[in-house]
Amino acid sequence: MDEALWRQVERLREWLDAETTPALADNVKLWRVLKIGEEFGEVSEALHGAMGANPRKGESHTWDDVNKELCDVIVTSMVALATCTPNAAGVLEERVRQLVDRVLPEGGEPADHARETPGSLTPIPR
Ligand SMILES: [Mg+2]
Repeated sequence: MDEALWRQVERLREWLDAETTPALADNVKLWRVLKIGEEFGEVSEALHGAMGANPRKGESHTWDDVNKELCDVIVTSMVALATCTPNAAGVLEERVRQLVDRVLPEGGEPADHARETPGSLTPIPR
């Protein structure tokens, strides 16, 4: 995966480590994972605003806002992953490979289990 991107993520993680309030230092992994939820809330708000889904607020956001907040979710997740493991880039790359292989295995059809709905043993019809 992109090394320059991960270097920037590491810079953010190191800055956060240096600036973390001592009272939170013992649970830094927990706080960084919870931060993803905060950013998800922001992208949800932006999406509602871009779609005009709340009649009280109208079209309060743009798709640029949605895209920016999606980036925040991604970067926040990368920082959380880098906080949880020193091999964040490798862990992410392996997980992406597993997800792709699950539905698009090299030289073959997707496995039937890839077509199952969550909680169901019934394959989705092709
Ligand atoms: Mg944000």
